Amino acid sequence: MHVFEAAPDFERVVFATDPAAGLKTIIAIHSTTLGPAVGGCRIQPYATEEEALRDVTRLAESMTWKAAAAGLDLGGGKAVVIADPARDKTEALLRAFGRVVDSLGGRYITSVDVGSTTEDLDEIRKETASVVGTSPFHGGSGDPSPITARGVLAAVKSSLHQVYRSTELRGRLVALQGAGKVGYALAGLLVAEGAEVVVADTSVDNVGRAVRDFGVDTVSADRVLETECDVLAPCALGGVINDETIPRLKCRIVCGSANNQLQDIDDADALRRADILYAPDFIVNAGGLISVADELVGWNRDRVLARVDKIGRTLLDVFHLAQVLNVSTAQAAVEYAKRRIRKLSRLNR
Ligand code: NAD
Repeated sequence: MHVFEAAPDFERVVFATDPAAGLKTIIAIHSTTLGPAVGGCRIQPYATEEEALRDVTRLAESMTWKAAAAGLDLGGGKAVVIADPARDKTEALLRAFGRVVDSLGGRYITSVDVGSTTEDLDEIRKETASVVGTSPFHGGSGDPSPITARGVLAAVKSSLHQVYRSTELRGRLVALQGAGKVGYALAGLLVAEGAEVVVADTSVDNVGRAVRDFGVDTVSADRVLETECDVLAPCALGGVINDETIPRLKCRIVCGSANNQLQDIDDADALRRADILYAPDFIVNAGGLISVADELVGWNRDRVLARVDKIGRTLLDVFHLAQVLNVSTAQAAVEYAKRRIRKLSRLNR
């Protein structure tokens, strides 16, 4: 195991290998000021270790802000495993990863992310108790996506209120990029509230499921960003809001579940200049973290839903802070999280 020197803002960045199991992993612990660092394990065939390091540090930092802003007593961390999830994921690899997590003594708690599944967490669980989001069969709360979608719905309503002074979804058009686990559940919630919904996904099956179950309209995946709509909800990939796409947007609001929607934090300023309200992703999509983290104190559905429903209020506070500080909503969201960390670290002392 190797501890990186080159990450000054991080409490710890660990690089570990287990050649026999085919494991190459980096775990980044950004902050444990509020509690143990929670964050998923991304399994991806990164081209280089530098690329993996960049990704894991960026993701770990945003977990710190997500947990703090959501009112959780948790810090931020993340893990990446450099492997192709379709080809290289074996029980040996997952368990070797679990042993690395365990060696951190509870300072980092892993969970699901791109390339890993609830079933993978069940394997990891055989080696460490520092894991949340395992299947109900193994004592966990399972897939949090429907709960994440509920938080996104609350955020969409607050964003509508900010722009139109009404949370009413009837008569509003929402364009969903991605009808996967979160996007599908969100489509159902929006339709139930009377919104018009148009869905795009590169998976024909996933589009078909949303059309069949909710009667939504469809748009091709390469045109969805240009859909004239009230709300664009990115629920697929990161980096979709950038120099190239911002001039093409025809929405009033960007509010979706995808992590790291902005290619760069300055893209939030460009959205502001274009008079498009950006609902910061880590505020909007905190429902998944709120749910899995609740396992640490004995998962309770009512408590989880009460916390998730507060996402709407938090977002309004962030919009207000952005106005007061005259900064973008993305900058205000980070400042909102930092203020809570500063306040509580003073109390802890
Ligand atoms: P998912 O893999 O189930 O769904 C993603 C969907 O996007 C898939 O259906 C995929 O086919 C589609 N897609 C991929 N490329 C696309 C493109 N170019 N255009 C349109 N569609 C495309 O993932 P998910 O769990 O629904 O998560 C969606 C996003 O939300 C991710 O960014 C994830 O990190 C984030 N997120 C999810 C959760 C959760 O609880 N699942 C929590 C927080 C954040």
